[in-house]
Amino acid sequence: SRAYNFCAGPATLPEAVLKQAETELLDWRGTGMSVMEMSHRSDEFVAIAETAEKDLRELAGISDDYAVLFMQGGASSQFATIPLNLLGENGTADYVSTGIWSKKAIAEAKRFGNVNVAASSEDSGFTTIPDQSSWATTPDAAYLHYTPNETIGGLEYNFVPESGSVPLVADMSSTILSRPLDVSKLGLIYAGAQKNIGPSGLVVVIVRKDLLGKARKETPTMMNYQVIADNGSMYNTPATYSWYLAGLVFKWLKEQGGVQAMGEINARKASKLYGFIDNSDFYANPIDPRFRSWMNIPFTLGDDALNGEFLKGANARGLLNLAGHRSVGGMRASLYNAMPEAGVDALIGYMAEFEKERG
Ligand SMILES: *Cc1c(COP(=O)(O)O)cnc(C)c1O
Repeated sequence: SRAYNFCAGPATLPEAVLKQAETELLDWRGTGMSVMEMSHRSDEFVAIAETAEKDLRELAGISDDYAVLFMQGGASSQFATIPLNLLGENGTADYVSTGIWSKKAIAEAKRFGNVNVAASSEDSGFTTIPDQSSWATTPDAAYLHYTPNETIGGLEYNFVPESGSVPLVADMSSTILSRPLDVSKLGLIYAGAQKNIGPSGLVVVIVRKDLLGKARKETPTMMNYQVIADNGSMYNTPATYSWYLAGLVFKWLKEQGGVQAMGEINARKASKLYGFIDNSDFYANPIDPRFRSWMNIPFTLGDDALNGEFLKGANARGLLNLAGHRSVGGMRASLYNAMPEAGVDALIGYMAEFEKERG
């Protein structure tokens, strides 16, 4: 029987998706082979790949003005790929620093050109989002990069920044498809797959087509968006099985009612857990309530010395991977699309019991 896995990533996948993959593992629809063993040029795999892209476009409302790329190297490789493609020879990029992931993106971009940190909430311990009126942006920036959901801190924007004619770039690794989003406000969206899409290693890039073809000449071929787009993300052998699994997740999301329905469920899951934490004198969450993440909910116990005991009891009940990130400590519950509401209820039940006994 499956446990409730609260891991931040690689994260839980929908059980229905895993079951379908199991059924199809040895023989995909009478082909006599696994998807893993198929040529990426075969009609069968090309159909799997195209269907996944079509379903993602439908789910997220992505128009033909955008290319959808299925790349490799996770979200972290995009930290370099983005400046190489968008910064030009002497451009400046604006970044907003709201946590560990934006800091990593900034550090990598600095290797390739001028980076202006337009705003930072580091002074607050990354517990809030700086008001956009205070951002010191560059008028002719090559792009403005932000991290809509800081997976480690549990901090999430409740707005899409206004960037005027400057392309807005978003690391949506841990929040993509968690609720409706107006894609047309963004120039580029990227997301490592292992939180809300599928297996790790795959990274989905949604890029406005007018931003293609601007890569610096030293850009490695495999990192050049134009090349990847021109080749249907098959310049080399793509991560075929991960792409297939992502496709199954997209189908599953459509069956659940799409991002509108997911948004409602995710809001309810998060507000249940935050509500419980706020009503307790034993548990606490440090984030500015306006910017609390729906996806990653860090919390501390009244006494850190009880952390080990809390985790042990959780494991025994099949509530797994609740330890906070090593840089933050405490606990963190990740409530991605695939975490059922019953998992949140089970967690809250255990937290109440633990507080009663040890609080
Ligand atoms: C997980 C994560 C990353 C890193 O993803 P990798 O696929 O491991 O490179 C980057 N940004 C955010 C916001 C993340 O949650």
